Amino acid sequence: MIVIILSNLEIKNPSKESEKVKNLLYFLKKNKTLSKEEFLFVLDNITQEEFKLLRELAYSVREENFGNSVYMRALIEISNYCSQGCKYCGIRRNNKLVDRYRLDKDSILNCANEGYLLGYRTFVLQAGEDKYYNDELLCDIVSSIKKNHPDTAITLSIGERTKESYQKLFDAGANRYLLRHESASRRLYDYIHPDSSSYDNRIKSLYNLKDIGYQVGAGFMVGLPTQTNEDLVEDLLFLQKLKPEMCGIGPYLCHSETPLKGNVSGTLNQTLVMVALTRLILPNCLLPSTTALGTLSNTGREEALKAGANVVMPNLSPVEHRVKYEIYQHKICTGDEAAHCRNCIENRINFTGFVVDMGIGHHKNFGG
Ligand code: SAH
Repeated sequence: MIVIILSNLEIKNPSKESEKVKNLLYFLKKNKTLSKEEFLFVLDNITQEEFKLLRELAYSVREENFGNSVYMRALIEISNYCSQGCKYCGIRRNNKLVDRYRLDKDSILNCANEGYLLGYRTFVLQAGEDKYYNDELLCDIVSSIKKNHPDTAITLSIGERTKESYQKLFDAGANRYLLRHESASRRLYDYIHPDSSSYDNRIKSLYNLKDIGYQVGAGFMVGLPTQTNEDLVEDLLFLQKLKPEMCGIGPYLCHSETPLKGNVSGTLNQTLVMVALTRLILPNCLLPSTTALGTLSNTGREEALKAGANVVMPNLSPVEHRVKYEIYQHKICTGDEAAHCRNCIENRINFTGFVVDMGIGHHKNFGG
């Protein structure tokens, strides 16, 4: 029998800990919580056999809560300017090779109109940390989309801002906010963000967003250089504590124009383990099957749907700018028109045995 160890996928002899891992997985499904030691035991000892069980359990929880539907969100990358220096990210401010762009209000409204006609009812506006979008401009953009399309949800993913700013944007009509915590391990967080945002501010921002009333999305990368199973356990414990409504989990993909160049990227299996465990911790969480997974492996997004994910975020950014939002390299779908992306992903979803749900798709606690 082939046994896969999460940290390095090395092949080892069968482990006699198998029974304990299985029991812990059943316990997690029932109680939605494990201790630090128990999570670590799972990550340190999971083999192919328990990985299969984990995916089955996560799939059944997903099915209980969402049937076989997959929510669709239209992603609009509004700017690749960024004032931050995150070591892993291709659009970090010091990467001089990036061809910078930003969309003005009209272009964003046009994207939203196009998306609306394609059936989307959630728009995700994502950007680097770009001061050009002050509160006044962003509130105007958010309220204009809401005015044009009152039956839609707006998700922002534009980094750390003050609580006052988050409040203004919420009052203007934003419903959800994606701000991945990136890593809940302070050591790892500091290592990948040496000269930019602080760990404490990132975490505080997430609590501020919760306080205001947003549906909040945390999330992290898997396979970051120096990341250990202990670090990943921190992520799981943090999710147990924060209980975010959404959680973006993707593999770290090494970008050659960053200080982390030359490192190994995260793997599909590592990421699927974390997606599936997250589904067991947060049964109602809106869990995207990330583009990074689709970039890593041709069927990565389909695998994630089968391991508990229930959201996909097709790209609706104008095609002429797509390739410039290069947070990691070889990103898929950079050349496809919005309508093509919509059809392509729907075919993949159907082929995997799921159906597309074009509804607004709020979290259960927010009327979903
Ligand atoms: N400025 C926003 C959006 C960042 S881009 C913010 O700070 O939240 C969205 C996500 O892409 C990031 O949160 C990060 O988790 C992910 N990302 C960035 N670079 C990556 C890389 N090289 N590999 C995989 N994911 C990456």
